[in-house]
Amino acid sequence: MIGGSAAGLFTATLLARRGVDVRVLERIETLEPEPRTLIVTNRMRGLLGRVAEGSIVNEIRRFELFTDGRAATISLNHPDLIIERRTLIQSLSEEAQRAGAKIEMGRRFHTLHANGNSLRVEIERCADGSREEVHADAVVGGDGAASHVARAAGWAPLETVPLLQAIVTLPKDMATDTVRVWFVPQDTPYFYWLIPESPTRGALGVIGESGPETKRCLEQFLEKRKFDAIEFQGGRIPVYKRWIPVERKVGSGSVYLVGDAAAQVKVSTVGGIVTGFRGALGVAEAILNGGASRELRTLRRELDFHLLLRRSLHSFQQSDYSHLVDLLNDPAKKSLGEYSRDEAWKMLWRVCLRQPRLVLLGLRGLLMRNRPFAGPRLAPDASDQTRTP
Ligand SMILES: Cc1cc2nc3c(=O)[nH]c(=O)nc-3n(C[C@H](O)[C@H](O)[C@H](O)COP(=O)(O)OP(=O)(O)OC[C@H]3O[C@@H](n4cnc5c(N)ncnc54)[C@H](O)[C@@H]3O)c2cc1C
Repeated sequence: MIGGSAAGLFTATLLARRGVDVRVLERIETLEPEPRTLIVTNRMRGLLGRVAEGSIVNEIRRFELFTDGRAATISLNHPDLIIERRTLIQSLSEEAQRAGAKIEMGRRFHTLHANGNSLRVEIERCADGSREEVHADAVVGGDGAASHVARAAGWAPLETVPLLQAIVTLPKDMATDTVRVWFVPQDTPYFYWLIPESPTRGALGVIGESGPETKRCLEQFLEKRKFDAIEFQGGRIPVYKRWIPVERKVGSGSVYLVGDAAAQVKVSTVGGIVTGFRGALGVAEAILNGGASRELRTLRRELDFHLLLRRSLHSFQQSDYSHLVDLLNDPAKKSLGEYSRDEAWKMLWRVCLRQPRLVLLGLRGLLMRNRPFAGPRLAPDASDQTRTP
């Protein structure tokens, strides 16, 4: 396993539990990854069980949507979870080791080659630059959006978008179980959000299309609403444009990709934690079952559906968002709260049954051509992954 982060460590755990001899090689020296405040659906609990608990810092019961003076509130039947990424990765690492996986820090993947019936992997020890070789029947790349494993095995580079968030003091009128979302299409085809991580602090973020422009928009947004940034967190997220087959053969050996390395990201909201865990389940199934995986088939359907939604939303203008908020009648809001964005099919099917005019609005978005969903830039080198402003 190359990359000891969320998707990689979960894959390692699943395989080690089934008796596979797993070695995880991670380039950072100590298990102190960048802190990051993340929001995920309750689905994470179902996937990880007790391993998830230590990283949960808050629970969300409501979303408030704002656009151009209008607002809508959606109450969730199952709370979303605010998690701290560093603690999550540390807990996943402990679980992987408990299951029998060996974790080696300070090891940077360089390249891989076919070697008879297996694969020869070249690794650099980050401390002194010395090289070593590892031999494996299968290599899994869980090394993020700029995956070197993917390049070495012949997958094309991924397109990415910048995501930037500032840790801020929460406004006094804000409930700590509520997330605020603002749609401001003149700044970004995505959205701004404020997620409370404690009774006093939250992460105010934005997804954009170009790094400098996204930074400028976030700074303006902070200034306009009188927020002071305590710290910044940022990185580039892969954009899911089509399903990426997770396995390639190199000689007789198999190479797999998981998580951001395979763009397993919901492109409607650009969330990759839960879908990366589902990718991990799928890759583990594929390795253990000789290629077949039900989980990968359902994940593909889910990611394709988010792609359709993104294509529609990407062309939305202010008036479309206003119309969207106006159309959210009580039954439609109830359906939005019943299902999570990790069950987008079910959620939107129910919402559209209860407010059929939303289907027309969605179709209009798909047909508009003012801002087609295409062409953010390619993933830079991995060193750019966590660059902050
Ligand atoms: C600021 C920010 C906020 C986000 N918010 C959310 C959110 O709220 N909800 C959500 O669901 N998602 C969110 N995301 C996305 C989410 O963090 C990612 O989808 C997820 O972390 C991807 O996990 P991963 O394990 O696939 O890859 P990564 O976390 O990128 O891990 C890749 C690992 O591989 C290692 N590595 C890289 N190259 C090498 C090499 N050559 N050799 C050895 N090791 C290597 C890296 O050090 C790293 O540990 C956010 C992302 C950012 C940047």
